[in-house]
Order: sequence, then C-alpha cells, then structure tokens
Amino acid sequence: FERAAVLRKRFDIHIAGQNAPAPLESFEELISRYGCDSYLVGNLSKLGFQEPTPIQRQAMPILLSGRECFACAPTGSGKTLAFLFPLLMKIKPGSKGGVKAVILCPTRELAAQTVRECKKLVKGRKYYIKLMTKELSKSGNFKDMHCDILVSTPLRLDHAVKKRDLDLSSVEYLVLDESDKLFELGFVEVVDSVVEACSNPSIIRSLFSATLPDSIETLARTIMHDAIRVIVGRKNS
Ligand code: ADP
Ligand code: MG
Repeated sequence: FERAAVLRKRFDIHIAGQNAPAPLESFEELISRYGCDSYLVGNLSKLGFQEPTPIQRQAMPILLSGRECFACAPTGSGKTLAFLFPLLMKIKPGSKGGVKAVILCPTRELAAQTVRECKKLVKGRKYYIKLMTKELSKSGNFKDMHCDILVSTPLRLDHAVKKRDLDLSSVEYLVLDESDKLFELGFVEVVDSVVEACSNPSIIRSLFSATLPDSIETLARTIMHDAIRVIVGRKNS
C-alpha cells in the first residue's frame, strides 16, 4: 500500500475510485504479478520499450484486474500500449466466437496507426486484427469474418452494426481512444449506439484521452461502472 503511494507520487499519478491496484514497477511485473505470456513482454523489449510510462504503470494493472478505467495523460505518453497490452493479454486469439475487442478512434489515421502498433506487439502470434475500412463497413460479410480485434471510427462501425448485421455481443474489451475528440466531434450518439451494441455484460470499457473536461467525465460516468479514474499530471493541460 505504501509502495503504491510512493510510486504514484514519483510518477505524478492521481487516482480516484475504490481499491485501485498498485502501479507497475517494471514490465517484468506483468509476468510475475499477472501471469503474462513472456513473448509479449519480450516483444516490448524488442521494440525498445524498457520502462513503462506513468500511464502504463497505472492503467495496465487496473485493466488487468478486470476494472474499467478512464485515463487522462498527455499526448505522446504511451496511452496506446496502456490499453493494447492488457487487451492482448486477456483475449484468447484465434477468432472463434466473434469479435473480442473493439477500439474506437476519432480519425481513420489514428485507427490505422493503432492497427500497426497492435500488429508489432503481437509479432510471433496469430491474432486477427482488422481495420474497419470504408469497403468493409459498406459491404463486409461479418458472419464469416475472422476478427479478434476490430479498430474503427465510430460512424463506420455503427454503419456495419446497423446495416451489415455486425454482431458485437461477444466483445470483451471496448476502448474509446482520444475520447475527448470522439465526443467533441459530435459522435456522442454514435458512440452510445456502439456502446449499446457491445452488450456482453462482463465487458470491460475504458476511455483514454489527453484532456478530461468535466463534461467528458460526466459522459464517461454514464457509460462505465465502478470505474477508476487515472490522471497523469494535470487534468486539462
Ligand atoms: P499517446 O497515445 O499517449 O499520445 P502513443 O501511445 O502514441 O502516445 O505513444 C507515443 C510514442 O511513445 C510511440 O512512438 C510509442 O511507440 C512510444 N512508447 C510507448 N510506450 C513506450 C515505453 N514504455 N517506452 C518507450 N517508448 C514508448
Ligand atoms: Mg493516443
């Protein structure tokens, strides 16, 4: 407990919520504390990631403990890995039983970049990672699609759900990345509709963003249950 407080102070991590797990001291703890397959941690070091960033230290254990979270940390502070890694650890790849994780991004560029990042992390293992392209959204046959992780912008995903019968009821992880932008861009209703389509009752939702205005926090709280809030540095800088 003391140790957790010391780490949070050192890395300028602020939390709100019940029973938050302690921050990581190192990536190796993902193996010792959370039973992570060592190949994933091996891939981190191959990518040159030596130490977790502050948001990774705190958000990873929260998600790995099965808790929902909304996380706010500056641009460039490694939020992508903070949500991708726990998701990769938890889902069973191989695409049987439908889509297991959905990552919503405000722009196509960010969605494409997230897919690239994800593929680098799982090098050496067979995960089906799909980007929701325009073509896929308009004419995809989702019944036969092999997909573990689906990355999309809100409108394309919503279209696929409503017009192409994409079933999201098997989704175990839902990430709203750059959620401040998702909501700013007027996607509130579309995001809501996607959140509703991800109807698995044991789903773990998380929000990541660089700023956390009160309005977004209020919205976030309507979506999530018993979530832990993590802020690195200051809330709105
Ligand atoms: P954010 O989403 O917070 O803006 P990104 O997830 O895009 O930031 O990460 C920014 C950069 O930092 C990327 O190039 C990423 O590969 C790199 N990065 C992420 N985590 C680490 C780490 N633990 N150590 C070193 N570099 C990292
Ligand atoms: Mg980001």
